[in-house]
Amino acid sequence: MPLHVSQHPLVAHKLAILRDKTTEPKKFRELVRELTWLLGYEAMADLATRPQEIETPLEPMAAASLEPRVGLIPILRAGLGMVDAMLELLPTAEVWHIGLYRDERTLKPVEYYNKLPDAATVQVCLVLDPMLATGGSASATIDILKAWGAARVKQVSLIAAPEGVRTLGDAHPDVDVHVAALDSHLNERGYIVPGLGDAGDRQFGTFAGPASEPGHGPDDQTAEVVRRLQRDLER
Ligand code: URA
Repeated sequence: MPLHVSQHPLVAHKLAILRDKTTEPKKFRELVRELTWLLGYEAMADLATRPQEIETPLEPMAAASLEPRVGLIPILRAGLGMVDAMLELLPTAEVWHIGLYRDERTLKPVEYYNKLPDAATVQVCLVLDPMLATGGSASATIDILKAWGAARVKQVSLIAAPEGVRTLGDAHPDVDVHVAALDSHLNERGYIVPGLGDAGDRQFGTFAGPASEPGHGPDDQTAEVVRRLQRDLER
């Protein structure tokens, strides 16, 4: 699976501020938006164009316009913060919502909302999720998009864990993954380390304490899932 880790110094700079635990939600949202512009620009670098005849004030010329129709699929809820920036880059993109939540103990994605029409209306889908952690939600979303008829899917995330990259690569080797950073590992609660904490809570200011954090469960099922993913990495 092609993994593209941005090498742009602006991306590194903004990511450092985003990760910092003292960064407040307002600033955090601004940075998610700015990083999404930069990663979106890179992720769409190979989209096809078709020739288009236009007239400048001086003379006619052969210009180019974007060929594929593009769909944006934010993984709720943290992916919502990436949508506006992508729409600024590509105002004609369609935004489709697929609701999956991550079971806090098993870390498995559970689908609760999907109103995709019968046939695909776009050729290229960009799946938006700031954190590619276990890869479970991304893989399940991409299963749905491929079954829908999307010809090409790309994943755009701010930070990825090796475990999530492995899971996604095994399930969907054809999917390009664009990230600002590839971090060290998942901890026993399913957080990316060093990461940035909970991307949803940090964007939306919902800090309700440890019980609401991802992967926090009353037993050690979560830790077992993470250990299995880490064993897969060693294969
Ligand atoms: N989701 C988050 O918001 N943060 C993580 O570290 C992992 C999943």
